[in-house]
Amino acid sequence: MPGGRNTKQKQHIISILKNADRPLSINEIYNKIIKHLPRIAKSTIYRNIDLLLENNLIEKFHLNDSEIFYRFKEHRNDHAHYIICNECKSVYNLPTCPIREIEASIEAEGFTIKEHQIQINGICKHCSTNM
Ligand SMILES: [Zn+2]
Ligand SMILES: [Zn+2]
Repeated sequence: MPGGRNTKQKQHIISILKNADRPLSINEIYNKIIKHLPRIAKSTIYRNIDLLLENNLIEKFHLNDSEIFYRFKEHRNDHAHYIICNECKSVYNLPTCPIREIEASIEAEGFTIKEHQIQINGICKHCSTNM
């Protein structure tokens, strides 16, 4: 990977996301990274997050309508779908891709599918018993 002048910031963001046990928002990433890089600007974090998304190293989730959360991808080309708790941001894997057959029938009609996204949001068992 070509090194840029933002490599240090990028490495910090990657390690923060790697060590997190749930997806993190930009604000959460910011609050963690300023302990190491107190002068970092939020715009720098946004720029690096965009790069990491482009490089397929992280993925993003939309939670609670407006908030966006980011997570480090364990395997770059993983094909996975997630069930996410809006309260604690726990992430569970959907056991299989539920639309492979639908995709096949769409492609049979001559449409080339590039990607698809399925995300299920809700309240996990643990959070719903604490409500
Ligand atoms: Zn929960
Ligand atoms: Zn799928």
